[in-house]
Amino acid sequence: MKHNFGAGPGILPHEVLKQAAAAVIDFNGTGLSLLEISHRSSEFEAVLDEAVKLVKELFSVPEGYSVLFLQGGASTQFALAPYNLLPEGGKAAYLETGVWANKALKEAKFFGEVEIVATSKESNFTYIPKDYTVPADAAYFHITSNNTIYGTQLQEFPKSPIPVVCDMSSDIFSRTVNVADFGLIYAGAQKNMGPAGVTLVIVKDDLLGKTGRKIPAMFNYQVQIEGGSMYNTPPCFAIYVSMLTLKWLKAKGGVPAIEAENNEKAKVLYEEIDRNPLFKAVAAVEDRSRMNVCFVTENPELEKPFLKLCDEKGIVGLKGHRSVGGFRASIYNALPITSVYVLIDAMREFAEKNK
Ligand SMILES: *Cc1c(COP(=O)(O)O)cnc(C)c1O
Repeated sequence: MKHNFGAGPGILPHEVLKQAAAAVIDFNGTGLSLLEISHRSSEFEAVLDEAVKLVKELFSVPEGYSVLFLQGGASTQFALAPYNLLPEGGKAAYLETGVWANKALKEAKFFGEVEIVATSKESNFTYIPKDYTVPADAAYFHITSNNTIYGTQLQEFPKSPIPVVCDMSSDIFSRTVNVADFGLIYAGAQKNMGPAGVTLVIVKDDLLGKTGRKIPAMFNYQVQIEGGSMYNTPPCFAIYVSMLTLKWLKAKGGVPAIEAENNEKAKVLYEEIDRNPLFKAVAAVEDRSRMNVCFVTENPELEKPFLKLCDEKGIVGLKGHRSVGGFRASIYNALPITSVYVLIDAMREFAEKNK
């Protein structure tokens, strides 16, 4: 078995993959593949219901919020958030903490004025800006909870006088959050929740229907809520595998239990990076991500040989994003701590060899 540190689509629990594979051949003894049954069948409706129920349970979603499973990835939500929440002639506030945040705010410009309340662009996004004021006259404040490419993460969510919209694509269900603090949460499934092809949306119902603009059905959260994520054919297989992953998470003790494991994985890995003379972490210490651990070698000549050693040990997906370079160890929920120890051993062995 490989040790999969890939940033996304990321690692899924092995037992989930086995169940998913079986369902492709024969879904729950129906004699049919999950891929060839109607999305309106009682079998599939049970899957979708279960997925929604697990999201609500694992995240303690309060009354007054709807849970949706949509297509188009998190990138579509960059546009749908302002489409549905930013009134004609209104303004939205954005915290620019990386490429994804930047793409999100660019989409919002199609729908109204955008105020960038703070940015860390000048440092290639190595930290999360902290001293800023959220404008009370904006429709919402958009943040990115974990910056997948740069390895930074909001350790605390900002206090905001206006609804907070949060892209949680790369750390959803990795830590406890208080959903009531948010107006809208969205996450592409393929980092920490399931396979590519489905996006989770948790939206506060009373924020909707206030833009004064007409919204085409597929892009309209209210239409999607009324249709129970089935206005059209949903991504059945991706929803099924997400449901299995959420079930796996619940069996592990839910979000608090996985959060403790994630903290431990991040702690031991950063300790090694800080200790090892060959490696250096990229992100500001106080903003370090517990999902994507970005680090570099002081000597870039050592990059290739280290990746080669990792390859020999079955460690995959470690190459950093092209805009940052170096290495990125994504330690998502499904990655066992034993894989982190294998990586740490490789780092130690490499430092020994290159003294
Ligand atoms: C990967 C990622 C995205 C893009 O997701 P898609 O589903 O590919 O559109 C957006 N935001 C963050 C934080 C991501 O990590």
